[in-house]
Amino acid sequence: MSLLYLEIVAKICRTSKEKLKIYWKSLGKFKVYFFVLAFSFQMMYTYTGTSVKTVVNMYVNATVRLHENGGNKVKKLLVVVDMQIDFVNGSLGSKEAEAIVGNVKNKIEQCKSEGWEIVFTRDTHPVEYLQTQEGKYLPVEHCIKDTEGWEIIPELRTYVEHVIDKPTFGSTELVKYVGEENAECVELIGLCTDICVVSNALLLKANYPEMSISVDASCCAGVTVESHEAALMTMKMCQIQVRD
Ligand SMILES: [Zn+2]
Repeated sequence: MSLLYLEIVAKICRTSKEKLKIYWKSLGKFKVYFFVLAFSFQMMYTYTGTSVKTVVNMYVNATVRLHENGGNKVKKLLVVVDMQIDFVNGSLGSKEAEAIVGNVKNKIEQCKSEGWEIVFTRDTHPVEYLQTQEGKYLPVEHCIKDTEGWEIIPELRTYVEHVIDKPTFGSTELVKYVGEENAECVELIGLCTDICVVSNALLLKANYPEMSISVDASCCAGVTVESHEAALMTMKMCQIQVRD
């Protein structure tokens, strides 16, 4: 919503711009109802003489209250990090990564049934990977865009609705998305605990200190068992809730 429009509507409704912003975000995909309702209010105003200001204000306040009280508009996000073939049984695969596939699948099923939104990330590199900074330190080609190893593992593909490709460990695009979705809590699972899971958990914590951020350790695996445990400890120390 443009700022000028926001200002005008706020003036007409004698409400604050902040309240209107929350209201607009909480509408999500149902913004079309906003216009249907606005039309109904116009009819009420024309035919019954009810003040438009009164009706719109009642509606805005009710929605804001629902949002603040944690009504069903509050979003919970499950971020499934880099569950790609190359990290599970491809060029950088491990038996620990293979071992969490069942847990990850169950977790996604459970979160879906509770109304969580699921977001996947994909490590994504160009064919010149070995010439990049990451390639110099980890000279193993992996997750080259459009190759088989880059794909999400077949066991989870049916759950992929929203996917964010990321060129490095932490994703600034994920940060932006979580902000836009107005998520109240975010849980991260996937690979690898000690690189991309920890990077994104700390990135989210830095950007949204009041957000509830957690990881489910039973759905994560690290490059080594030791570095997996070390990353969990780092996250615990940074007040990211670690579930077992
Ligand atoms: Zn990579």
